[in-house]
Amino acid sequence: YNTEKLIEQDLAHLFHPVTNLYRHSQTGPLVMVEGKGSRVKDAGGKWYLDGFAGLWNVNVGHGRSELAEVAAEQMRRLAFQPTFFGMATPPAIELAAKLSELLPHHSHFQFTSGGAESNETAIKIARYYWALSGQPQKTKIISRRMAYHGIAMGALAATGMPAYHADFGPLPPGFLHVSAPYAYRNNPGLSESDFVAMLAQELEQTIGREGPETIAAFIAEPVQGAGGLVPPPEGYWQVIPQILKKHQILLIADEVITGFGRTGKMFAQETYGFQADITSFAKGVTSGYVPLGGVGVTPEVYAVVSRPDRMFMHGFTYSGHPVACAVGLANIAILERERLWENAALRGEQLLRGLERLLDHPNVGDVRGKGLMALVEVVEDKSTKKSFAPSQGIGAKLQAATRKRGLIVRCNDTGIAISPPLIITEAEVDEMLSILADSLDEVFA
Ligand code: PLP
Repeated sequence: YNTEKLIEQDLAHLFHPVTNLYRHSQTGPLVMVEGKGSRVKDAGGKWYLDGFAGLWNVNVGHGRSELAEVAAEQMRRLAFQPTFFGMATPPAIELAAKLSELLPHHSHFQFTSGGAESNETAIKIARYYWALSGQPQKTKIISRRMAYHGIAMGALAATGMPAYHADFGPLPPGFLHVSAPYAYRNNPGLSESDFVAMLAQELEQTIGREGPETIAAFIAEPVQGAGGLVPPPEGYWQVIPQILKKHQILLIADEVITGFGRTGKMFAQETYGFQADITSFAKGVTSGYVPLGGVGVTPEVYAVVSRPDRMFMHGFTYSGHPVACAVGLANIAILERERLWENAALRGEQLLRGLERLLDHPNVGDVRGKGLMALVEVVEDKSTKKSFAPSQGIGAKLQAATRKRGLIVRCNDTGIAISPPLIITEAEVDEMLSILADSLDEVFA
């Protein structure tokens, strides 16, 4: 590779997503060229442990040539036909059938090309469901602060982080937010069960204030990811669905990160023992080898939306792309053959126990995680939980310190998020923990 030329072209032409574009123009890109297992290599030949699995998605690890072969074979045979006009392809049909085995409370699946499209689809199915049920006023969507559901307008409105909303308004109306089950800052010293009761009461009050007859769905990540990695307190996923059911509000589980093994079971609904009316997924369904996402719905939802006098006016050109679906099937076969959710549970425990040792550090306020998704929250002052100001550039310093030591993780001013491929080994988790400890020592020396 001509790295210098690539960097020059990047700066001249590549408009990076979710990036401080000015800062990028000063630092340039880290150009990545190859991956094998849990590791990736940059254009200069340096290898890194991929402690973020790409973007929470390379669940089966890098360099699986069987996925490349499946994609090439499907492209040669039939690169594209839609699932529109009553047509379908074998991979789209077979993947929908496979998913109904993995999520047995869902009977039907529609595909998209990613997480945001999946959540748009889920939100629109929920509204459509109520419109066809004779309650067209049930349109509002409740989500949680700190939620990340993607950046298309509907998913963005459901996203609970003001930084993503600023300067992109007006957002579509009808989206409400309740508190995240974020014990570190939102629990005022209650027991875990009282904290759940407090969150339940807030949801009840919100529903009461708005009127249940105006609310279509509640959308939530079983474990909040990008917004700050928040595993729910014990009992949360028993109490919340009961409230929704009582008020006839559909539950949408956003399993874009948690699906396909990351929390220690194939889906987090199994990890936490609840069942959503609609599940959205993406990322791990293909381990990122090609873009794919989708939603699953229950037979009850499907029965309503498939009414004889209506046409479901929603879908994308690439809803059920045959190459993506073929890779999805092969990727799920790898997850099942290697039982990778079990490794996620085992290595996730090792990771969390190791991260807990970092709590002695003067600037580590909290560590938390579930399966192979975890976070080290850094604070300027542990007694007041005061966060670092962006001007202190802590995120950039943590990124430089970890990358220098050969680890890719997601660093920002509030901490370090970790989400390695589900194939990660015991030795690699130890390596990651030791790099994290050394990096924190360097940045906060
Ligand atoms: N939902 C969750 C929980 C996510 O973490 C993400 C992306 O990180 C999305 C939705 C959006 O997915 P995409 O970026 O594929 O649109």
